[in-house]
Amino acid sequence: MNTISDISTTCVVAGAGPGGLMLGLLLARAGVDVTVVEKHADFLRDFRGDTIHPSTLEVMGELGLVEKFLQLPHTRAPKLTAEMAGETITMADFSRLPVKHRFIAFMPQWDFLNFLAEEAGRYPNFRLVMQGKVIDVLEDQGRVCGLLLETPEGPLRIRSTLVIGADGRHSVVREKAGLTVESFGTPSEVIWMKLSKQPGDPTEVMGHAGPRQGMVLIDRGDYWQAGLVVRRTTFLDIQAKGIETFRRMVSDISPLPVERMEEIRSFDDTSLLVVRIDRLKQWWRPGLLCIGDAAHAMSPIGGVGVNLAIQDAVATANILAGPLLEGRLSDANLAAVEKRRSFPTRATQKLQLMMRSSRRTDDESEAKRKGPPAFIRGIARWPVLAHVAGRLMGLGFRMEHVRLRPR
Ligand SMILES: Cc1cc2nc3c(=O)[nH]c(=O)nc-3n(C[C@H](O)[C@H](O)[C@H](O)COP(=O)(O)OP(=O)(O)OC[C@H]3O[C@@H](n4cnc5c(N)ncnc54)[C@H](O)[C@@H]3O)c2cc1C
Repeated sequence: MNTISDISTTCVVAGAGPGGLMLGLLLARAGVDVTVVEKHADFLRDFRGDTIHPSTLEVMGELGLVEKFLQLPHTRAPKLTAEMAGETITMADFSRLPVKHRFIAFMPQWDFLNFLAEEAGRYPNFRLVMQGKVIDVLEDQGRVCGLLLETPEGPLRIRSTLVIGADGRHSVVREKAGLTVESFGTPSEVIWMKLSKQPGDPTEVMGHAGPRQGMVLIDRGDYWQAGLVVRRTTFLDIQAKGIETFRRMVSDISPLPVERMEEIRSFDDTSLLVVRIDRLKQWWRPGLLCIGDAAHAMSPIGGVGVNLAIQDAVATANILAGPLLEGRLSDANLAAVEKRRSFPTRATQKLQLMMRSSRRTDDESEAKRKGPPAFIRGIARWPVLAHVAGRLMGLGFRMEHVRLRPR
């Protein structure tokens, strides 16, 4: 095959999402020659999760970037509330966390990614290849040794000591490398849409739950990013019933006035997230490691996907930068990253599965009789649990710190 040119690098990272870009920044800062490849031309894509958790802000602080970062437009949530059966409940309270920034910052993911790319770009040993779609992994005697990309100029091979799969929940890298995925629980769907924000609207970030579905509203300044959670039915079924039925579904559960639903002109104004919980049986193979959603897709419960991807990136850089710089990377190093991040991943997924199974039945009258799910009743009864939830959500089960000095 003719390739435009080959690139050699110490570490190639597939995917410029939160995990891939943070890892690129950390490795570049530590002096490792790193190349991040991204299939899109820019970061301006659909809504993909806007939550910057306190632990991520702590990492930004450790990098000396948090003040600059927080100059970007964002909204702050020192607590998250939900309205259940007419009652407002604090679900997670971040006010007592042992960190400097005790809030979740809601910021469009493209701003976050642009910021990381810009900071990483200050290092001459960092390279970002946009419009580089990974189509295969390169192998040499059973060891992964690079990536094959499709680019507008033609195929491109990138050879490297280490390949990182940070290409998200539909990871091509993990599939091509033959890593085994285990799935948990039944998938559900979130239908995302934008609704304008107007005077008199609720002032806080809200979660809503009706008998058959839940709704999330994220304050994006002049509009709401609204997500309708549906289970047991599918987006396809809803589409078949027509846009009017969909508007009614949203209106039934939304705290916004019914006229606002006219803003959903057609299903083109919505985007679908299929919620799945899965993880790799083993996150690595010789020469390859997967992190973030590529290693473990999370449920949106708690909005922890971005956070976990960032924490994976920090642990990966801490453990692998030294061996990469000294040319002594071993399988044991890759296994050490998995070992470190496996517990927080499993624990978070277990919690998400428990929270999902404690939810109400899909039968409406049965749901009314049962009332809110057990974990919400617990938090309503013992408000201290909102601080526990805040800690688990805001910092995770194992918080990572930047251990590497800049070179
Ligand atoms: C609609 C939606 C809403 C979400 N809401 C939230 C939320 O509120 N809070 C939260 O924490 N999480 C949320 N998530 C999940 C969150 O986005 C992910 O957990 C998080 O982004 C994972 O980061 P990552 O870096 O591992 O992967 P991703 O963010 O998925 O990044 C992977 C990157 O790889 C690129 N890529 C994919 N395939 C290739 C290829 N073949 N070649 C090159 N590049 C490739 C992609 O374009 C992407 O840029 C949401 C996800 C979706 C889809």
